[in-house]
Amino acid sequence: MTGPTDRTTDPAACCDGAADPASPPAAHRMWTVDEHLADVLTAAAPLPAIELQLLDAQGCRLDEDVVASGDLPPFDNSSMDGYALRTADTAGATEQYPSVLAVVGDIAAGAGVLPKVGPGQAARIMTGAPMPPGAEAVAPVEWTDGGTGTGRAADAMTAPVDDEEVRVLRPVAEAAHIRRRGSDIAAGARVLDAGTLLGPTQLGLLAAIGRATVKVRPRPRVVVLSTGSELVQPGDPIGPGQISDSNSFTLTAAAREAGAIAYRVGGVPDDPAVLRAVLEDQLGRADLIVTSGGVSVGAYDVVKEALQGGEGFGDVDFRRLRMQPGKPQGFGRIGGGAAGGVPLLALPGNPVSSYISFELFVRPVIRTMLGAPDVHRPVVRAVCPADLRSPAGRRQFLRGWYGADGRVEPVGGHGSHLVGALARANCLIVVPEDVTALPAGSEVDVVLLDA
Ligand code: AMP
Ligand code: MG
Repeated sequence: MTGPTDRTTDPAACCDGAADPASPPAAHRMWTVDEHLADVLTAAAPLPAIELQLLDAQGCRLDEDVVASGDLPPFDNSSMDGYALRTADTAGATEQYPSVLAVVGDIAAGAGVLPKVGPGQAARIMTGAPMPPGAEAVAPVEWTDGGTGTGRAADAMTAPVDDEEVRVLRPVAEAAHIRRRGSDIAAGARVLDAGTLLGPTQLGLLAAIGRATVKVRPRPRVVVLSTGSELVQPGDPIGPGQISDSNSFTLTAAAREAGAIAYRVGGVPDDPAVLRAVLEDQLGRADLIVTSGGVSVGAYDVVKEALQGGEGFGDVDFRRLRMQPGKPQGFGRIGGGAAGGVPLLALPGNPVSSYISFELFVRPVIRTMLGAPDVHRPVVRAVCPADLRSPAGRRQFLRGWYGADGRVEPVGGHGSHLVGALARANCLIVVPEDVTALPAGSEVDVVLLDA
């Protein structure tokens, strides 16, 4: 690993996990980051392809090779505003001795009935209008007197035209200013391959060849909800002990950035019955559910209380991970049904923990559902000029700034409540489980968050 872009891989796997101490009982064992990631990815498969309207398919990947059914352009047409004519009629034309041609008609874009252009004749033609029979080229209006009978044409053509003749001031070459039928795309050509990401220009191409719908891998629908009786919505008055719900915004935005259709469900109080009712409501529109908060060992850890054990509603396992921040996590399925239920990732409530958990575990699930080739964030090696400390047995993810010089600086401190520093970071610095201190100047793995 030498350069800053030398590998694109699984950031959670960038350091080897510490071995588990002699198999503790399942409920008490701690999971490595890699074990948890592998487990959550068992819930992730590319979603079945569906036919979508073009604009609904933006950001999705094609699930078909697209073949043009007709030529593009579909007919020979003019690339200029000017006069369609026969080239022989303009041989030797000059400003002093122009060719004088009879104007036999006016052809606008979209014209269906076309005049026939014979020897000594021309038809006024607009950009994109079909070439009339008999014409071999187009003289741009700037090469003519524009039918005014007085030297060069004005800058623009005026309509309608009742001029009877036009002076062409220079010779016009064969096929000049004609866009040939099929010169862009020939009928039967494959224009887009399966797997192509559909952005503005690809959608435009599909529209140009007459496709109204297209078969794609849909974006996963991700429901994000935050839990906590202390939460108020941003902008609402804050009472004693209350804080603004920020996680649901971070996580919804992160899900969208990962390519999902994300629905933000505002804060749910720490009441298991309410949480279960909200979840049941949301099940119908979710391919994936992400919760924040309530997964720890405190009283009122609502997600745990509502989902642990399942009671027919689901099967969510709550576990502790060898990582910092983000130790408590939950993962399972809820709601049952044919597909075995909707996968649910329960993230811890501390804002930094929940965001890092999203990056490490939720984002790869979304990317896999999308059928994206790049499931994981890129990881690069970088020199860190600061001393780093990390607890034994935990993979630590520090917020950092990765600069153009290929070095990485820690941003802010260790606290998992530090949203200010989080918003100034563009990467995560990874300190492996078996490392407790790294001297300044060490090389570290860096997960790039804005790549
Ligand atoms: P919890 O995991 O529910 O115990 O929450 C841990 C910490 O994160 C507490 O300080 C919470 O107030 C805070 N927290 C939980 N949910 C959110 C949220 N949606 N937005 C901001 N902070 C939160
Ligand atoms: Mg809570």
